[in-house]
Amino acid sequence: MKSKSLKKARVMKMAQILSGKEVSAAVKKKAALEVERLKERGIVPGLAVILVGDDPASKVYVGNKKKACELCGIRSFEYLIPASASEDELYSLVEKLNNDPEVNGILCQLPLPEGFDEQRVINTIKPEKDVDAFHPENVGHIMIGDHTMLPCTPAGIMEMLDYYGIDPDGKSCVVIGRSNIVGKPMAMLMLQRNATVTICHSHTKGLKEIVSQADIVVASVGKPGFVTADMIKEGAIVIDVGINRLENGKLCGDVDFEACEPKASYITPVPGGVGPMTIATLMQNTVTAAEIQNRKDD
Ligand code: NAP
Repeated sequence: MKSKSLKKARVMKMAQILSGKEVSAAVKKKAALEVERLKERGIVPGLAVILVGDDPASKVYVGNKKKACELCGIRSFEYLIPASASEDELYSLVEKLNNDPEVNGILCQLPLPEGFDEQRVINTIKPEKDVDAFHPENVGHIMIGDHTMLPCTPAGIMEMLDYYGIDPDGKSCVVIGRSNIVGKPMAMLMLQRNATVTICHSHTKGLKEIVSQADIVVASVGKPGFVTADMIKEGAIVIDVGINRLENGKLCGDVDFEACEPKASYITPVPGGVGPMTIATLMQNTVTAAEIQNRKDD
């Protein structure tokens, strides 16, 4: 006779885990192959990462980006600027990197310490070296749909959906959060793939009702466990962008994973979901930037 727990496991539905670790490894492998091909032409893609101040989380992200560069054969240049530095010092560094032929991509780790104008820094980066795709020129191209570069987190999510054969076409998608770096571009990419998109934010009324209608839910709120099981519909595809550090030091997302997982059809874990995709896409963007910049010189 079968044990009760085995029977229970059989009737319990489990969501397919969307593994950012697995997909990001494939993306980085592809980027590394492209780097090899560029190196045969004497081109070594280079990524400059600027860190202003000493925010511990930012330091970890910058360290992870450096490791990914090493893995893909991309040259990385790291610039540490004290929070006490003047904005002008930062702008002149960006200008120097804009004109450095060894640097194909420039990334300024956000958020910047108080007193720094983030948008002005972004605007200073040459659009063709803007591997985060945050520059207004690149944002405009994303709106039109003729982009060469996409913001790393939303593009990484699309890559992950493609890898698992999830087609947003005709699906209803609710994006919670409307930041320039995640929510807004995420909504645009879903729209370009023919999803019917709703964006929710802190002024949204009836959020639970709206989210519960969605085939795809993207949570980019920055609040641990914000999306609960009673908010999602049976079989929903749940993408958790949130990275929140709890008091006990544990990382968690914006989705109550334990509760939502049995109800979802696909779900991303935190860690190991969207985070690794963001870095892998940054590698791909740097390679793309190097290819485009050298195409112009040919
Ligand atoms: P953000 O700029 O703080 O934006 C948060 C968004 O959530 C805002 O649009 C805000 O609405 C909305 N919001 C806040 N409270 C809400 C509520 N009660 N109901 C509905 N909407 C609400 O954050 P972000 O930069 O987009 O990042 C979001 C999360 O993703 C953070 O945890 C961040 O660490 C993480 N993140 C992860 C990655 C990755 O690679 N995995 C990359 C980037 C960010 P308003 O606009 O009305 O204020």
